[in-house]
Amino acid sequence: MTTPLFVTTTIPYVNAPPHIGFALELVQADVIARYHRLIGREVRFQTGTDENAFKNVLSAQARGVSVQQLVDENSTRFLRLTEALDVSTDHFQRTTVPAHRRAVNAFLARLRPDDVFAAEYRGWYCTGCEDFYFESDAPDGVCPEHGTPLVEVAERNHFFRLSAYQSRLHELISSRRLQILPATREAEVLGFIERGLADISLSRDATRSQGWGIPYPGDETQVVYVWIDALINYLSGLGFPAGDAHRRWDDGVKCHVIGKNVWKFHAVYWPALLLSAGLAIPDRIVAHGFLTNEGRKISKSSGDAVDPVDYIDEFGADAVRYFLLRHVRPFDDSDFSVERLAGAYNADLSNGIGNLTSRLTALCESAAPCGITAPAGAPPSGFHEHVEAFRFDLALALLWGEIADLNRELGAARPWDDVKNGRLAAARGSLAPLVARLSTAAHWLTPFLPHTARLIQAALAAPSIRRSEPLFPRRGVTTGGHSR
Ligand SMILES: [Zn+2]
Repeated sequence: MTTPLFVTTTIPYVNAPPHIGFALELVQADVIARYHRLIGREVRFQTGTDENAFKNVLSAQARGVSVQQLVDENSTRFLRLTEALDVSTDHFQRTTVPAHRRAVNAFLARLRPDDVFAAEYRGWYCTGCEDFYFESDAPDGVCPEHGTPLVEVAERNHFFRLSAYQSRLHELISSRRLQILPATREAEVLGFIERGLADISLSRDATRSQGWGIPYPGDETQVVYVWIDALINYLSGLGFPAGDAHRRWDDGVKCHVIGKNVWKFHAVYWPALLLSAGLAIPDRIVAHGFLTNEGRKISKSSGDAVDPVDYIDEFGADAVRYFLLRHVRPFDDSDFSVERLAGAYNADLSNGIGNLTSRLTALCESAAPCGITAPAGAPPSGFHEHVEAFRFDLALALLWGEIADLNRELGAARPWDDVKNGRLAAARGSLAPLVARLSTAAHWLTPFLPHTARLIQAALAAPSIRRSEPLFPRRGVTTGGHSR
């Protein structure tokens, strides 16, 4: 029996609707989940929404609605996005539900008493990020994310003795007991730990958050610091502290997919908190790059965020998934534009796999070779290694290499000449191996383009191969990036 795998995305703030940048993270985590299910592993895949941030209070006030109404509406839009993208989540965890609040209380109660103390915190704070910045990260006193001036905030908080975990964290990461991808991010985390870890706040002043948030256990003047609260979603989603569900997953492999800007919370704070609570730490943290628009990060606050559901409506979920997985470098920043998406659609999907499937199945309808009953063969050499290394772009390049080979071999074999001259046995002889290889490619395509893979496999299945509907119909004239 193989070890079960627990995969998560981060949970986004819900002060605004989702943007295409979060679609990237959902799709990447979905490939991990679907790939491991495909090779026979038990998987639990979780996402959700982070709803206790003060930013929600500001957004709700700006819109003149209650905070709960705002988070309900936007959380629903994130849930809809997971459905529209065909993302195979097993659980969607919201942080305003009572079960999460219970988990946060139970988690804080488990921290080693020596690790928790009260002290004054003073720091440079961005209300947009709801986070303090060190001078080294914001040298001009300006938020690097928002470009707005930071404000100095001093308050009395409950603290966590992060400094006590410095050497253990360093050992866990440098030994790869906790693996961080890519290696450049791992080096950044180790460097951060080596410079010395300061203790961190577990709570925030409840007045400053206008009471929004989870009350700190035993101290009504404080709410749980939203980052601590959000991290605990990985446990509340497993039913912690009730029952044994979370303990079962403690024995499994735990993989967090995160954005490259939040490694401090996931690779430093979170494992230290888990060690203090006597719980299992994550096994793998994968930090992806950002989508940019002409070099600028696309974010909710950048004003150029387009609802990803619009792209899905126009191109289809699998086309958006394909672009994000094949044409985005997983660990670096990559430009996203509707023009690039349309280009990939036409070149790789419509002319590539779509054209091959149409030609091959149409010929099979005439020559009637046997439909596929055998299990899929092995993927191209190196495929498993690329998926394990999170290089979905390279794994897909291998599959598209096979698609190109099949297109070429079909052209060279010219089975349509045989069909035309009534040599059906000869046509079947040249078609059968191509059909088997396309079926195998479709099998390994399942984690990436699940709907397309299903359609291809259904068309090629026994007893008789049927002409496939166009998988990616040619798009009309494109004006301004949108078809008319
Ligand atoms: Zn900021």
